[in-house]
Amino acid sequence: MRKTFFLLAAICIAATLPGQEIDPKLTEVWEPVPEKITPGILPFTNAPSDAIILFDGTGLSQWRKPLVGYGGSMEEVKAVAQKRAALTKYEEKDADWEVKDGALIVVPGNGHIETRKAFGDIQLHIEWLAPVDPGKTGQGYSNSGVFLMGQYEIQVLNNYENPTYSNGQAGAMYKQSIPLVNACRPPGEWQAYDIVFMAPKFGKDGSLIQPATITAFHNGILIQNHYELKGPCIYQGEPSYVPHPEKLPLILQDHDNKVRFRNIWVREL
Ligand code: MG
Repeated sequence: MRKTFFLLAAICIAATLPGQEIDPKLTEVWEPVPEKITPGILPFTNAPSDAIILFDGTGLSQWRKPLVGYGGSMEEVKAVAQKRAALTKYEEKDADWEVKDGALIVVPGNGHIETRKAFGDIQLHIEWLAPVDPGKTGQGYSNSGVFLMGQYEIQVLNNYENPTYSNGQAGAMYKQSIPLVNACRPPGEWQAYDIVFMAPKFGKDGSLIQPATITAFHNGILIQNHYELKGPCIYQGEPSYVPHPEKLPLILQDHDNKVRFRNIWVREL
């Protein structure tokens, strides 16, 4: 009995040591599976007059390579925050995704891209297309993501008849909040997210005053209803808040799939 206790204690300590890999499967949630619905046909929304246009189909002037990147575990999130705090002088490198036929296309291997401008509370409209990619399944089928403030990810993935863990499917706040329904269109068709995101608020001492919240519509259907985030959307381990500036760039994810984006605009709130 004593032996078992010490063994368990040793395993728990080992699991939390810095630098140790945490099994990402531990934070996959497979049930419930969101009900599959068919969204109505909506006209895609052109930017209103007060929006900041992030991509209008022509060029990548609003985008660059990320200055500090993204963290997939709490350890990495803290490292990114430290790197950001130490950043006094920097050189911007232009984003190097492909622009073709009015779309912004992920170039696998070129890495994530981020907005040159930083944002806090926003309304965001973004259209995306998961290309038809026979043979791909689960998280490997047209995966990308919209990382609000570079760390709060609404998942982009083909989940039209492509099952995966529910808290990692399209419209999930990755590994935190399952979408209310599955409003995916088939791969090869354009879809839209309309998002209201409120940035977290931190006190001067770094304590959390107010968590980030998100309300999101997928193809016009409510999928996240004022969800309070628990911290950054990380791949492994449990999230917690790390204080950060009031405004940060929006990141689009290169997950090795040629996902397309178009008509991206934002209104600052
Ligand atoms: Mg993703």
